[in-house]
Amino acid sequence: MKVTDHIKKAQGKTLFSFEIIPPVKGRNIKELYDNIDPLMEFSPPFIDVTTSREEYVYIDRNGLLDKKLTRMRPGTVGICASIKHKYDVDTIPHVLCGGFTKEETEYLLVDCHYLGIDNIMALRGDAMKEEKYFEPSKGGHIYAADLVRQINHLNSGQYLHEVIETDNCADFCIGVAGYPEKHMEAPSLKTDLKWLKKKIDEGAHYVVTQMFFDNTKYFEFVEAARAMGITVPIIPGIKPIAVKRHLQLLPQVFRIDLPQDLIEAVDASKSNKEVRQVGIEWAITQSKELRDAGVPVLHYYSMGKSDNIKTIARAVF
Ligand code: FAD
Repeated sequence: MKVTDHIKKAQGKTLFSFEIIPPVKGRNIKELYDNIDPLMEFSPPFIDVTTSREEYVYIDRNGLLDKKLTRMRPGTVGICASIKHKYDVDTIPHVLCGGFTKEETEYLLVDCHYLGIDNIMALRGDAMKEEKYFEPSKGGHIYAADLVRQINHLNSGQYLHEVIETDNCADFCIGVAGYPEKHMEAPSLKTDLKWLKKKIDEGAHYVVTQMFFDNTKYFEFVEAARAMGITVPIIPGIKPIAVKRHLQLLPQVFRIDLPQDLIEAVDASKSNKEVRQVGIEWAITQSKELRDAGVPVLHYYSMGKSDNIKTIARAVF
């Protein structure tokens, strides 16, 4: 079922969802299930599965380093199919522009259609570790809006190279990313919102936000988006702080600010166990306020560990 239909069906009740990352290749998928199992009692209508950018690995061949391109966390669509089958829940693969040609994307979307996957999260992807700026693949998309257009074309039976198939069209519900504190490359929030609007105009049906720790940022973002004519659901993304290092890492990677009270509480913690507790309490307060404001879904970034998300969900749902 589509995310937008889940939201309609809930009739104003805030839903619980979360995002997982595929295991590093060679690791057992059971670890992933062990982290999903405890969250199923909160009846998530959908679970997102991320896709990682490809990266270079260096293989030592008699003192000479051989540079090879690989994806360390493969299997997004396979994991989506497996979770859907195992838990009878909708799964949402994250589909990236970066690292894929349009043909490879079409191939992947056709797989998703045959697997009965109803939702796609359409993203540009970050720059590769070695790159300063995002470089599109040869024959790939430059912006997420272009990917949204390709998915939307498929929804009307229009495949690449002017092949038209109208008997059995896909009907994907398309999610896109939004940034309450603006995307790191955008010169201003207003410009970023203009490009978000383009993604919606190309056919996206809902937005999931980057993590934020101050709800005011989300409320102001939604207000600004509505003023630009963006009317689709805007789902807040919540990440509980889990280790002290997050104080540097999260602003560095995601270009977001952390509230002073949160920084001081984390700084005052004597162990990572205490930090985890601070993160849980902060996320509960954030979640309750967002729930009371009537957000459609609270979407948690689990990063593969679910004990803190479970404690938060217990307090909020
Ligand atoms: P876009 O919407 O294409 O925007 C990228 C930048 O270009 C923005 O600064 C925007 O303002 C600007 N822009 C857009 N269109 C134009 C235009 N026509 N001309 C000029 N500028 C333009 N990354 C992963 O690698 N894997 C994941 O699974 C993943 N999941 C995510 C889930 C969520 C909910 C979020 C919020 C992010 C996720 N990301 C993921 C990160 C995301 O890929 C990065 O933030 C990436 O840098 C931007 O992706 P986007 O889809 O927002 O890009």
